[in-house]
Amino acid sequence: MTGRRTKILATLGPSTDAPGVVEGMVAAGLDGVRINCAHGTPDEWRARVAGARRAAAAAGRRIAVLFDLPGPKVRLGAAVAARRVEPGDRLLFAGGDPRDGEVPVAWPDLARAAVPGRSELVIGDGTPRFGVVGLPDGPVAGGRVLGECVEPGEIAPRKGAALTHARTDLPALTDADRHALDVAAEERADLVALSFVRQAEDVTLLRAETLSRGMRSRLVAKVEKAEACERLADILAVADGVMVARGDLGVEVGVQRVPLLQKEIIRSGLAARRLVITATQMLESMVTSAEPTRAEAADVANAILDGTSCVMLSAETAVGRDPVAPVRWMAEIALAAEAGEPRAVPLTGPATGHRAVMQAAALLAERLRARALIVPTHGGASARALSAHRPRRPVVALAHDPQVADQLALEWGVIPLVIPEIDEVEPLVDACEARAREVVGMVAGDTVVVAMGPSGAPAEGDSMVVARRLR
Ligand code: PEP
Repeated sequence: MTGRRTKILATLGPSTDAPGVVEGMVAAGLDGVRINCAHGTPDEWRARVAGARRAAAAAGRRIAVLFDLPGPKVRLGAAVAARRVEPGDRLLFAGGDPRDGEVPVAWPDLARAAVPGRSELVIGDGTPRFGVVGLPDGPVAGGRVLGECVEPGEIAPRKGAALTHARTDLPALTDADRHALDVAAEERADLVALSFVRQAEDVTLLRAETLSRGMRSRLVAKVEKAEACERLADILAVADGVMVARGDLGVEVGVQRVPLLQKEIIRSGLAARRLVITATQMLESMVTSAEPTRAEAADVANAILDGTSCVMLSAETAVGRDPVAPVRWMAEIALAAEAGEPRAVPLTGPATGHRAVMQAAALLAERLRARALIVPTHGGASARALSAHRPRRPVVALAHDPQVADQLALEWGVIPLVIPEIDEVEPLVDACEARAREVVGMVAGDTVVVAMGPSGAPAEGDSMVVARRLR
């Protein structure tokens, strides 16, 4: 069993479909797979999920399956005349039917969403950018936005067009997202991520949609809009996790602002005890190369030193030359980085008895140099409460619900296992110890710390922690 604590999430795609590839990724240390619903067909998603679960089962590992919903992505129309624009150039962008000389945008709500003097329309990967200077009326009324170029670049048909600081009364979920969610429900997605989250209500809407489909997926808000950065605390209050989605975040706020925003999102997410996924271009050169650059290794290590729960691979695995190599490299970089001193993040939120007991368990394990922290867990809350303290000892989490175990696969430092449901405390602890022993390589004389939340402890509503010496 690997000693690595930071988890690895990899995007599946055409390159991972070849026989033996996912098996290789699992062997290299994969902890979760991402289905990017912006690409591929539902049948391809289903086949990839099945293949990943088969590979994990064969290896005796739990892995999480995350469905990533594309959200409302806006593009320039197909009829745009390709050309270069320079600072000061003024263009009329038409959300409806364009007239001669106007730039069509495939989004009827463009003018309703834009805030003159504040919003920017950002094309492609970040340039050109246009400040929204007005919403014309009179002869050019209706659905049009007057933009003034502030960063030069090329406009061309079907390029992405992000509107920053948009009004928030637009639907967060498109019909395509709802259809993808239907497939995610059939596939028992462990986590669902939503793109272009602007406010807490977007996550609340997604929660209602998942619950109405009978799903128990944990919800991840992708932070890639300026609005989401400003409303991060509210979003963290309702989401189970956040993803630092650096690709679109860089488009939205400018690439130069991504590093500090990343640190702030990781810090806030950890303080709120949420899953934090750091994503995009982490080992980008490995799409075509056999080794990462020094800069990429430093980038992954910095996210780990800042405490991210999980690091993500996108194109490196989905369309890369060899999807196994980036997983192996990421695991090695993570293991090396974890030898460093991670940044301590003070946790926020109510000081419940349960949280206090889990904190005590983490401290006790350290003092006693315990071999492992063992935590029987019903819904995963006790394991997450322990992981939030980033203990140096492995957290062996034992759940009787396989989906809970799969969800815990992405939590920092947690080794999830499945055990049968046992009601009595003493037999439960014995069974947990026996199962943990198989995996962590413990021997007689080792000390373990067992922590239990209210649903497992002797008296309903209590939490408890005990140190035991293995016989
Ligand atoms: C991103 O923009 O960084 C991201 C993770 O989202 P997507 O891959 O869906 O563009």
